Amino acid sequence: MSNNKSYVVGFPRIGEQRELKKVLELFWSKKCDFSEVQRVASELKQRHWAYQRDADIEYISTNDFSLYDNMLDMAITLGAIPARFQELEGETLLFTMARGDNNRVAMEMTKWFNTNYHYIVPELSLEDKYQLNAKKIVEEYKEAKAFGITPKINIIGPLTFLGLSKRTDGGDAYELYSKILPIYKELLQEISLLDEKITLQIDEPILVKDLDIKVLSLVKPTYDALSCVASNIYIAVVTYFEHSSEATKILVNTPIWALGLDFLYGKENLATLELIASSDKVLLAGVVDGRNIWKNDFESTSELVNIITQKIEKDKLLLATSCSLLHTPFTLKYESKMDTEVKNWLSYAVEKLEELSLLTQLTLKAKASLSQLQTQTLELNKAANHSRKTSKLIHDKSTQERVQNYTQLVREGSYEERIKIQKEQLGYEDLATTSIGSFPQTPELRKARRDFKSGDLSEVLYEKKMKEYIDECVAFQEECGLEVLVHGEPERNDMVEYFGEQLKGYGFSQNGWVQSYGSRCVKPPFIYGDISRPKPMTVSWSSYAQSKTDKIMKGMLTGPVTILNWSFVRDDMQRGDVSKQIALAIRDEVDDLQNAGIKMIQVDEAAFKEGYPLREFKIAAYEEWAVRDFKIAVSAAKVQTQIHTHMCYSEFNDIIKTIEAMDADVISIETARSGNELLKIFAEVGYKQEVGPGVYDIHSPRVPSVDEMVKQIEKLLEVLPKEQLWINPDCGLKTRKWEEVKPSLINMVKAVKIIRDKV
Ligand code: GLN
Ligand code: ZN
Repeated sequence: MSNNKSYVVGFPRIGEQRELKKVLELFWSKKCDFSEVQRVASELKQRHWAYQRDADIEYISTNDFSLYDNMLDMAITLGAIPARFQELEGETLLFTMARGDNNRVAMEMTKWFNTNYHYIVPELSLEDKYQLNAKKIVEEYKEAKAFGITPKINIIGPLTFLGLSKRTDGGDAYELYSKILPIYKELLQEISLLDEKITLQIDEPILVKDLDIKVLSLVKPTYDALSCVASNIYIAVVTYFEHSSEATKILVNTPIWALGLDFLYGKENLATLELIASSDKVLLAGVVDGRNIWKNDFESTSELVNIITQKIEKDKLLLATSCSLLHTPFTLKYESKMDTEVKNWLSYAVEKLEELSLLTQLTLKAKASLSQLQTQTLELNKAANHSRKTSKLIHDKSTQERVQNYTQLVREGSYEERIKIQKEQLGYEDLATTSIGSFPQTPELRKARRDFKSGDLSEVLYEKKMKEYIDECVAFQEECGLEVLVHGEPERNDMVEYFGEQLKGYGFSQNGWVQSYGSRCVKPPFIYGDISRPKPMTVSWSSYAQSKTDKIMKGMLTGPVTILNWSFVRDDMQRGDVSKQIALAIRDEVDDLQNAGIKMIQVDEAAFKEGYPLREFKIAAYEEWAVRDFKIAVSAAKVQTQIHTHMCYSEFNDIIKTIEAMDADVISIETARSGNELLKIFAEVGYKQEVGPGVYDIHSPRVPSVDEMVKQIEKLLEVLPKEQLWINPDCGLKTRKWEEVKPSLINMVKAVKIIRDKV
């Protein structure tokens, strides 16, 4: 075993060429056997171990691999199988829990803390029996041993497992603590038989949240109990994404071996160093960013490590990634098209291994032990970070000055003044019908965009195709009687990428895939420099669409907070400052649109809510700049220009005041699946602006009937008056087919007619 003393919390599994994705999708479409999936999986595991071993990482994980998701694996390990799946086994069980089949609905999926990774939500109930199934963990450990490494084992801890589960019989998942903990103990028993000495990483990210005393009071009994199971297991309790100070204070008094803390996203962890030092715990210090793509700045990280070593003795310290590298793309190796200056600032998972290893050498060992290659890497690192501080690609004086001096944070007129004028001038009826923006993205559209990008389709022909599609969208909307039209967004591949590609300061990768859920990966663009808008981005499409109809054509933009939250963001500037730059670019677009005759403009903030910090004490700061920047983005709007926004969810209870403060004239939200329950908060707080609660769920191919939507609208009318309501689907229609969209919208318009005749 190396004694480099570096610790990797976890590694991506999808494969550097998304091999796992590809084989899973083949298997699901019955184009290969499961044995092929197993073959690829084991090849990937070995390759990933080899990357870590070759980078001289001492602590390499097993069971960070998964064919779908680690929470799902943990549920299966604990025997937490919902009744509807119990007759299944093996891979059929696993994939049916994740994806459902004709007879069984899939388990729910939700975001893993504030990342874009989604986990499967375990379903627990008091009646269910739980039973250990350690097969996957045991086999993977043996596989790694046979490969020639002595790995650690990663599992999700009982407090996090329970905290993220839902009770199907009502009540709190922690009530199942006494049923679940014994299974964990059995698991540890089984693990203890695997080797003479074993490191067990227990992930407890739930401990970074503001926990109530009930949960905190479980920390000590849990880790006292688990530490007692077997003396040959070295338990490391690992947290990430925020500080976990409250739990640290408790964990130092349990017999665990080590504590893993994130010092990048949880600086407050520094305040617990003394306490850790006075205990016998080893510290796994997360100092290499597992959530972003920038090259580590060795100078500033060395300073951070210095602060840590002032308190913690070096032999009780290991350097670690701040969280699993799952949240970063795999390797820069395939980025052949990227600007070399920009590429030189980046570091993906494989490159981060080298960084971690080198940082350990640099800070925890005598400098003399650096090899020539390492010394060279060090120099290159310095140069790269220096170039980021000075490069013209990043620093744009005129943008910085404009952002600094921009003072118009609020648009003209109060809501009452605006809405009066808008209702007069725009003349839409109560319960006005509209849609959220996109219409079906057909294979022909995708191909046209692809061919245009690659140069196989001329600009003239490309434009012609897009315009034909817009014509069809307009014609259909007029025919079915929608009142406020959209152009359909045929030119957009993605609501963030489309704007990113036109903004200065944005970069795109070829192979920067990150797992989002199951086999699905996303390739977020990255913001490396000051953002500005060289020229209008949407005006020609919107004006064209408006020229084709006498009805109102709604302009369609993505808001600054969403653009930010769905990108990798530069780390040399506060997020709020980056967001303000984007806001100004959008502001100019809003102005250009209204000057071109567009009377309604929707600024989508689909990701506004997911940007919320994990800890309460940071929320006020987030809300302050997020609301400010939405307002800046629409600040140029004249009183008569109606500003819409759209948000892809419906739980507004915690943030309703913030939504109100954004002061959009109309907000459309996703309430179709929950009747009118989630709308009630708008009435309760006396929300004044107009609201378009989705009346049907676009996430399913089902065509809703007229009757069904009539009932849905009646329910909405129980909560808000008709003067305040808009009628629309629940989100954009780009993932649907025309044969679903057409009858659905026709039915929606009919339903509104019926209601209007009644009330
Ligand atoms: N205007 C976008 C669309 O219709 C909004 C999508 C979203 O918010 N996710 O596709
Ligand atoms: Zn949406």
